[in-house]
Amino acid sequence: MKNCIVVGGGLCGLFSAIVLAEKFEKVTLIEASDTCGGLLKSVTDDAGVIYDQGTHIPNTTMIPEIDNILFGPEDEREQHWNNLGQLKTGNYFAGKWDLSTQVVDTRNLPEDVYQRGVLELLNLSTPSEAEDIVSYLCQTIGPTFTNEIAAPLCKKLYGDRVDLSQLMTNSSVSYFGLSRVLALNPEVTNKLKELPAFDSKLAYHNQEDFQERLDRDNTEECIYYYPKKGQGVQFWIDHLIAQAKAKGVTFLTSESISKISYNNNKITAVTLKNSPQELPCDFLYWSAPPAIALIAADINPYRDESGEKPVFKTANIFHFSFDKPINNTESYYIWNWDIKAKSFRVTLLPNLRLDDKDKSLYNLTIEALSDVNDSESVTVEMMLSELKGMKLISEDAKVLSSLRQTVHNTFPVPTFAFGKSVSENYHKLNDRFENIMISGRFSGKQWFHGDVIKAAYHSIHEKFS
Ligand SMILES: Cc1cc2nc3c(=O)[nH]c(=O)nc-3n(C[C@H](O)[C@H](O)[C@H](O)COP(=O)(O)OP(=O)(O)OC[C@H]3O[C@@H](n4cnc5c(N)ncnc54)[C@H](O)[C@@H]3O)c2cc1C
Repeated sequence: MKNCIVVGGGLCGLFSAIVLAEKFEKVTLIEASDTCGGLLKSVTDDAGVIYDQGTHIPNTTMIPEIDNILFGPEDEREQHWNNLGQLKTGNYFAGKWDLSTQVVDTRNLPEDVYQRGVLELLNLSTPSEAEDIVSYLCQTIGPTFTNEIAAPLCKKLYGDRVDLSQLMTNSSVSYFGLSRVLALNPEVTNKLKELPAFDSKLAYHNQEDFQERLDRDNTEECIYYYPKKGQGVQFWIDHLIAQAKAKGVTFLTSESISKISYNNNKITAVTLKNSPQELPCDFLYWSAPPAIALIAADINPYRDESGEKPVFKTANIFHFSFDKPINNTESYYIWNWDIKAKSFRVTLLPNLRLDDKDKSLYNLTIEALSDVNDSESVTVEMMLSELKGMKLISEDAKVLSSLRQTVHNTFPVPTFAFGKSVSENYHKLNDRFENIMISGRFSGKQWFHGDVIKAAYHSIHEKFS
């Protein structure tokens, strides 16, 4: 076949354009923004310090063909990538650090609350099948741990006004790790985790126990990488753009599609919005929101009868460089599960830059979510105070340079209405045309970048081999 149009130049579109260039004579990638990368990009402050837009630590998929595209041939990776091995995260909860897991340790709750909670948790021995998150949590970790920990943390992430009974179980709540807890000692936990109902609610206490489980299940653990030479995750994006260009992919940035033309159920051409040009199209690879394609094809996107529109949280991202070392020289990033704090995640860049021997740069990124119109309520002073409160930086640490970013449309609030609109639009588009493929995070099928890329790779191979 001749012409393939890829819409969306995020990680998914870039990777797929490289794979599709092997199958088509001409591949054109159309990206609405002036640069590719989507959610993944690096930014530089006035002093020239490089940070990433949020936490993005690339990992292997353990499928050699994919990993060779993502990171280059194995014997050349050392040149460009710090091999971080396993993921090192941690969390801060009830005034204490735990650098072994991202999951909250309920043993840090007041004794009477903990005792009540742990009794409830031990009594819940049937796996929950509840579809809403509150029922699922109450039937899994119990009402006390739900009310004291998971529910307030969901509100911290998705906003005070969110109706928790409307949040789906199968959603980013699991990504944040809020449906599991630490509740007992490591030995009892390991034993209880042999039972499915306890496996889904208790977390391993340390990397050794987790590793033992992976070995037992014959699961190969992925490797985490971070770019060398002080570069950020932008290096990854630039590496993929260079590969796509070398394979002849044409890039049209600051561009989008105003019309999709078709004959019966086959797309024949797309019309560009900014330069009124029609491009012939034998195959349309779509990694942007499906509703946009439906409108361009003159098909009404799904609308919730209640008029409820999907809500995406705004990420308020603060980058700081300090004059004193950060008081954590281990974790790549950490979760702030302090219920009263506004921030939820801190990325510790010196710990990712293993090749930087002198480690003279003490820089980090702290993130807080807000509603789209509420961004100004999250301030620089608030973030610095939270970093000091967690004792991540010392009281007298001075900011040498900084940068603030406001990124809209990041985490979706995972309501049933949102799930339904994503699924309806996916099917409306997918079922209408025989030569379209919908992929990426907007398909609503995958979220983590490794999963997004594996799904894209397998779908393309299935269709064209
Ligand atoms: C805040 C946040 C944090 C995350 N953290 C992690 C993490 O720690 N680990 C992990 O594995 N995953 C993480 N993810 C998920 C990960 O970012 C995604 O899996 C991955 O980036 C998805 O890539 P994508 O190409 O599908 O989407 P995107 O990166 O969103 O790219 C979509 C592209 O389409 C473009 N576009 C949109 N509309 C149009 C249009 N009409 N025409 C042309 N182009 C258009 C956009 O400009 C964008 O470049 C995170 C996601 C978010 C939101």
